[in-house]
Amino acid sequence: MAAIRNIVILTGAGVSAESGIDTFRDSGGVWEQHRVEDVATPEAFARDRDLVLRFYDMRREAIQTRQPNAAHLALAKLQAQWPGRVTLVTQNVDDLHDRAAAALGVTAADLIHMHGEHLNAWCTACDVRSPWAGPLLDRPACPSCGEAALRPDIVWFGEMPYRMEEIFAALREADLFVSIGTSGAVYPAAGFVRNARDLGAATLELNLEPSQGSLWFDEARHGPATVVVPAWVEEMLAR
Ligand code: NAD
Repeated sequence: MAAIRNIVILTGAGVSAESGIDTFRDSGGVWEQHRVEDVATPEAFARDRDLVLRFYDMRREAIQTRQPNAAHLALAKLQAQWPGRVTLVTQNVDDLHDRAAAALGVTAADLIHMHGEHLNAWCTACDVRSPWAGPLLDRPACPSCGEAALRPDIVWFGEMPYRMEEIFAALREADLFVSIGTSGAVYPAAGFVRNARDLGAATLELNLEPSQGSLWFDEARHGPATVVVPAWVEEMLAR
């Protein structure tokens, strides 16, 4: 591999699976009668607000009982110790990357939640996002304007992901693009590998199994994130 300075890493639900957070495809339990698509659209929110709020209240509560795993911790270590820039773009709405990074001084600019965050609420009246750990079902007042108009700060299907300009700026500078624990089914994130290739970066996939976009990667390593990610990070830091 040619000299690597700047790295862009895209993570998906697979990186949090071993922390006990369901991936997109096997969300189950009490919600198995709902496909995630049915509760993750603006249309669903307009149609049945209580159903959507209850779904997100349950997931917001659940993530707070989970802990970062060895993959989150290894990626935070890479961000803290790599001599170039490591931009971590996550599709995950949990805060496990944030918690792994907190102790290591990783800056918020280098951790991009492109699909929003469970632990934020977004006021549809005043447009302010506030940290939020409790339920939304009981229509609490927005801390900023007082209106009972909060929704989950989650990018639903059909909505524009966050910070796309920053992501494309990082992809333009990237020497290496790494995709971890994502199925390659949800766009625009699924297209980043082709953008990165077109812009001249080497590409690597770390996933439990070949993803839908596997053919676009120069190299793939398959296995659980808590095994393959720390091994790759140690390899990079030993270069
Ligand atoms: P996905 O469920 O479509 O794909 C998960 C991928 O991870 C699969 O390819 C699977 O083979 C792989 N995987 C499963 N367990 C793994 C493990 N232990 N180690 C490594 N890989 C593993 O998820 P996605 O591609 O992230 O897309 C789903 C969408 O749903 C995203 O938009 C995301 O915002 C949202 N989502 C987020 C969370 C979260 O925040 N933790 C959880 C579920 C869904």
